Amino acid sequence: MRTVHADVLLASVGERGVLCDFYDEDAAGTYQDLMREEEDGTPEAREFAAHIRPASGPVLELAAGTGRLTFPLLNLGFEVTALELSAAMLDTLRGRLADAPADVRDRCTVVQADMTAFALAKRFGTVLVSPGTIDLLDEADRPGLYASVREHLAPGGRFLLSLAQSDAVKSESLERHQQFPGKSGRLYKMHVKAFPAEKIREVTIYPADETADPFVVCTSRIRILKVDQMVAELEEAGFDVITRTLPAFKEMLLLEATPRSDSSS
Ligand code: SAM
Repeated sequence: MRTVHADVLLASVGERGVLCDFYDEDAAGTYQDLMREEEDGTPEAREFAAHIRPASGPVLELAAGTGRLTFPLLNLGFEVTALELSAAMLDTLRGRLADAPADVRDRCTVVQADMTAFALAKRFGTVLVSPGTIDLLDEADRPGLYASVREHLAPGGRFLLSLAQSDAVKSESLERHQQFPGKSGRLYKMHVKAFPAEKIREVTIYPADETADPFVVCTSRIRILKVDQMVAELEEAGFDVITRTLPAFKEMLLLEATPRSDSSS
């Protein structure tokens, strides 16, 4: 996926340039270098856990990535199905599971599927989505997500949809540049540019070292979503939003929704 900034970079580095989506195989080195162990998702997992009713059964985590939230959820004792589209992310997740204690590993099922159109032969007490994930989906794709979630919720089940708070309630500058080190010590640059008319933000991450070969340019396109719009979409898709929570510790907003016919349970 091209971004305006990626086009400029790729034009200047010639054949050294490699363009990839941030979650693709070619980006795996960059992603793993930038993922920090201390960002292990435990506070978010606890926040989700506070909304999971006791004995409500297995949890379906959509777009699980490399397991940043999956492992804390497993460590809290849940049985988790981790659904993810990217083979590169799944490789890392499966590798981490192989290294985990058997009682943790045995409570996790990994599925490669598209969160906008999946069919698993199972229903779940809870389906959850981490912050910074639904905003990867186009308006045309989100109804597929809502429909798939509805079909996989057990009676009385809950859909826990989180949004990055920057999307939900804060305004951000139109353009920013940042530089930060990966775990390897390698420096990366990040360019973020908002296009308010199109309601998207383009993110481009690349090596600070202009001589890097290959010069891997990772891109992501993030939809700028407002919480009221999310609530309206959920209601349109047949859910009732029963709580909106703004956890203090983390820049996220959590919506708890239940299929309308189940709202009394
Ligand atoms: N949940 C993980 C976390 O909190 O670290 C990963 C979140 S990351 C922001 C978004 C994830 O969504 C990536 O792993 C990406 O591969 C995945 N993804 C993007 N589109 C997807 C789709 N249509 N179906 C399933 N996963 C998808």
